[in-house]
Amino acid sequence: MKTLLSKEELHDGVTRMADEISKCYENRQLTIVGLLTGSVVLMADLIRMIDLPMRVGVLQASSYRGATTTRGELVINSELMLDISGRDVLLVDDIFDTGHTLVRTLEKMRDFGPTSIKSAVLLRKNGRQEIEFTPDFVAFDIPDEFVVGYGLDYEDMYRNLPFLAALEPADIARHKEVMAAATQL
Ligand code: 5GP
Ligand code: MG
Repeated sequence: MKTLLSKEELHDGVTRMADEISKCYENRQLTIVGLLTGSVVLMADLIRMIDLPMRVGVLQASSYRGATTTRGELVINSELMLDISGRDVLLVDDIFDTGHTLVRTLEKMRDFGPTSIKSAVLLRKNGRQEIEFTPDFVAFDIPDEFVVGYGLDYEDMYRNLPFLAALEPADIARHKEVMAAATQL
């Protein structure tokens, strides 16, 4: 796989973003909410680098596609969510691609009455946005390629890679061979 961001580059970028977040919320308490599952690796690093008192939670969002719509309604699993009313909240996701997931999740979270709500993403893909919106904190802008590693998956694999890689057609062919071999009885 072609490495797009090394382990060291990721570490530097996440440290930079953590410092910006610490400055932004100085003397306040933060409620930080990670979107499952892509943000888990970023969350683990980020929460240890942010120098603030904080509460930590996760949230799952799923899109259900209806028969007549191409993009289904986004449903968030609020049972998993911390109480965010009257709190300063930061929503964290792995990647800002078209922007729909983050923007719709933020809209749903506003219904729970946070004092403020901002967003942070590890990656923003260039030229892909379909929504007029900018996340408050972005660690890296990347070219329009499908990426895996550092939390991001292809068919639920590769999230554990410590670097960020672009998945190319040869990698996908190799992935299919490995999966076929692994699932044979
Ligand atoms: P959006 O709603 O912004 O189009 O998509 C955001 C979601 O799509 C991300 O949370 C992620 O799950 C998925 N996604 C978008 N681009 C990529 C990519 O390059 N690699 C991986 N692994 N997931 C992506
Ligand atoms: Mg995701």
